[in-house]
Amino acid sequence: MYFLDIGQGDSTLIKTPNNHQILIDGGPKNYVLQELDKVMPFFDKTIDLVVITHPHADHIDGLVEVLKRYEVDAVLISGVDYESPSYDEFLKVVAEKNIQIYIAKKSEDFSFGNVFLDVIYPDKSIFGKKFQDLNNSSIVIKILYGGKKILMTGDMAFEEENLLIKTGLNLNADILKVGHHGSKTSSSREFLNLVKPEIAIIQSENGNSFGHPSKEALNRLKAAGVQQIYRNDIDGLIEIIF
Ligand SMILES: [Zn+2]
Repeated sequence: MYFLDIGQGDSTLIKTPNNHQILIDGGPKNYVLQELDKVMPFFDKTIDLVVITHPHADHIDGLVEVLKRYEVDAVLISGVDYESPSYDEFLKVVAEKNIQIYIAKKSEDFSFGNVFLDVIYPDKSIFGKKFQDLNNSSIVIKILYGGKKILMTGDMAFEEENLLIKTGLNLNADILKVGHHGSKTSSSREFLNLVKPEIAIIQSENGNSFGHPSKEALNRLKAAGVQQIYRNDIDGLIEIIF
């Protein structure tokens, strides 16, 4: 897994042992292109699945060029009601290139060889739904591989964490991609006590104007027993090998 160094935003590439590639979010601007060049062989221009956790600019801006330059087999989106130039353009290119669209729901899971993507939020489709806080529409995926579990949370905040807690689903994971760049309104004590991650990853940019990651979230991660926190703002490109 590569937590790409794309500035203030999220973008993660997963390479499977069978050489499938899954890209979760694409970060702001087009920084993702340089980062993909670092971690994908130059002759490989295919991506099996692109996931948009939610269509905010810091998660999707880079994806328009990714769709244009790579052969993307399928996209997974929530289909929430949201308009922005880059999201409109993304949907336009998906339609033009006739890319397969999956609408996220709990029963829609994906496997790539022995790597399994378990969609755990939304429970039922939220297609066409308007959210007051789009962050709380973030698709949440648990990745399972070789006995390891990685929880990808987009920009989920307390409200969505509480929904997940109420479902009674097993949220435990070895690695947590911390919600909303380490914002103070994500990663509640209750949520972290259920996830119990050993490793936490924070995608944020050095000196970002939001003050991400927040002291509050960092303290809660430490209090929950997280042994290692990796951050793009300090560590640059983060690579985890299983
Ligand atoms: Zn974000």
